[in-house]
Amino acid sequence: MTSPSTRRMPSLFIGHGSPMNAIEPSPYSRAWAALGRRLPTPRAVLCISAHWYVPGSPVTADDAPRTLHDFRGFPPALYAVNYPARGDPGLARRVAALATPTPVPLSLDWGLDHGSWSVLVHLYPDARVPVLQLGIDARQPPAFHYALGERLAPLRDEGVLVLGSGNVVHNLGLIDWREDAPPQPYASEFEATVVAAVRDGRDTALIDYPALGPAARQAVPTPEHYLPLLYVLGTRQAGEAADTPLAGISHGSISMLCVTVGG
Ligand code: ZN
Repeated sequence: MTSPSTRRMPSLFIGHGSPMNAIEPSPYSRAWAALGRRLPTPRAVLCISAHWYVPGSPVTADDAPRTLHDFRGFPPALYAVNYPARGDPGLARRVAALATPTPVPLSLDWGLDHGSWSVLVHLYPDARVPVLQLGIDARQPPAFHYALGERLAPLRDEGVLVLGSGNVVHNLGLIDWREDAPPQPYASEFEATVVAAVRDGRDTALIDYPALGPAARQAVPTPEHYLPLLYVLGTRQAGEAADTPLAGISHGSISMLCVTVGG
């Protein structure tokens, strides 16, 4: 592992897809590993995972967060994955201070869910970068999450990678489990809409995503997998580029789009 970088960290959104991406080689997991090698090494990761969607915005404050296997019906090998990254309680207090006036309770009741570790096992396979998670307040509108991302932007100058983990298209009701399932038209359409808006810096349109067209309703039937993107976009500084280094529709209805800000 290289030494943590002292320059401003990029922010990163990753479409995580199936938990199996943790242990099955795929073009997506290979691309995540390449991103981990290309981007500067952070001193810590603050992950906003779709799978901690709760009433409030808690931050994990454990010294040694547990690896949570928060899914059912997968092979034993997936339950055997352990991601032994340390936490950083001091950084958790810093996150809470930056989030003011949003209350951010320090939590010892969670750990690292698969939205975090299924990606981190590829980004930082040696698990030597401390990891915190920030919960997504299920009671709040999209603009709240973007604004909280804005307040957390100073972390980037403190060596922290803000990592959103979700999927901008995530419709499990329409999923097609065949490996070669073709992308469903609404899924491709909405992913392309998001790519264009990200590259053009149309953050307001991305916050008001239901107005992006009829495909949005099918692409985002529930908000928890989309909202992590808004935290990442909220950390963008004036004049900074955003890019989409990876895109593609998995199982017909899951977008694997990745977004970098300042990367
Ligand atoms: Zn998920």
